[in-house]
Amino acid sequence: LAGTQGGTHGPSIRPVVAGLPRTVSDDLGVPTVHRTVTDYANFDHGATTPALVAVAEAAERVQRRYGSVHRGAGYASRVTTGWFEAARAQVGQFVGARDGDQVVFTRNTTDALRLLAHCLPRRTRVIAWESAHHAALLPWPARTTTRLPVPDSADDAVALLRGALQDSPARHQLVVITGACNVTGEVWPVAELVAVAKEFGARTVLDAAQYAPHRELDLEQLGVDWVAFSGHKLYAPYGAGVLAGRSDWLDAASPYLPAGGATAAVTPRHTQWQTGPARHEGGTPNAVGAIAIAAACATLGAHRATIEAHEEQLHGRLRAGLAAIDGVRVIEALGDRPNVGVVTFTVEGYEPSLVSQVLADEQAIAVRDGRFCAHLLCDAIVGPGQTAVRASLGLATTGEHVDRLITAVRRLVEDGP
Ligand code: PLP
Repeated sequence: LAGTQGGTHGPSIRPVVAGLPRTVSDDLGVPTVHRTVTDYANFDHGATTPALVAVAEAAERVQRRYGSVHRGAGYASRVTTGWFEAARAQVGQFVGARDGDQVVFTRNTTDALRLLAHCLPRRTRVIAWESAHHAALLPWPARTTTRLPVPDSADDAVALLRGALQDSPARHQLVVITGACNVTGEVWPVAELVAVAKEFGARTVLDAAQYAPHRELDLEQLGVDWVAFSGHKLYAPYGAGVLAGRSDWLDAASPYLPAGGATAAVTPRHTQWQTGPARHEGGTPNAVGAIAIAAACATLGAHRATIEAHEEQLHGRLRAGLAAIDGVRVIEALGDRPNVGVVTFTVEGYEPSLVSQVLADEQAIAVRDGRFCAHLLCDAIVGPGQTAVRASLGLATTGEHVDRLITAVRRLVEDGP
């Protein structure tokens, strides 16, 4: 991969993989590196996204030159340290960080939320909906966590939260909000939930694993205290994620990884820890991952409107096409919400695992079947113990892919199990 071009919509990076077809993401000016011989219909963006060309190039640039981060005086060390800290600033800009907010690099969303759980002041009451992804449902101390049932509308979600906060005497409270649901793609009423939390003096964390790749994230505007997301769902590689937001609880907590990098001074009797992001980034950081995330942030941030329009159009077409097939049930929880490009469904008479296998083997269509690390939600909206098929679209999805998926499912139904 090589080649960079200026453009009217910010950086436009042109893939030069000889002989392979252009993709829709090329045409949108946000190319990804995926090029396959068959036209692979990627409906698995909710799990992991292909790297953007801009990301692959940034990662490759670092791989060629890197040295230790914050641990050396040599040229390569200084350059890499500069890139790493510039990446932090870029991510801060992407999330609309406020004065005093910090950006901590983690392994992924799971790790970012676990880090926040580690930093809770004693006896903090945590409130989470059972519809959350397990990464956002399980890291909190069981004794002080209240689980709200799966809501059946946005208003219900807000009412459930208000009810829980009204009878809570706790001094410190944290509300865990899903930005966009990984099972249904529905965008949660974040602003309304934050407003209620604030009324009761509770803090909020946004699980933006599914939200960040598709919608603008702005801590200032959303009013959430923290946000967590993963690089590998943001067109960047695995192994790096972000927790960004308020510093006070993070600086007051013991280091998440008590190790080199997190220490300011160590004497035989006393260890003085760093404050700021270094406090929780013990050990040598994943600088390549952080720099790759920053490249994704820069590119996605510059193309938001194009990406949203593309995804909204395809989502409408996919949802309508599948819902119109007799025997297909589209799974929703909140109903009538903006959606980040997910349609989860079942096909009467077919095991979801068979549907996804047929789609993959016969049509080169990648979907996911299962319970999507959200068992309580699936029990409530799919059926107890039941699985479903999830089609999640993104930059690598085209209109032809959508039509291919709809046609393939229609044929399954027509042919009968
Ligand atoms: N939260 C949501 C809404 C998700 O969809 C996921 C992953 O699917 C996670 C958290 C966990 O992300 P990761 O596996 O990158 O830690």
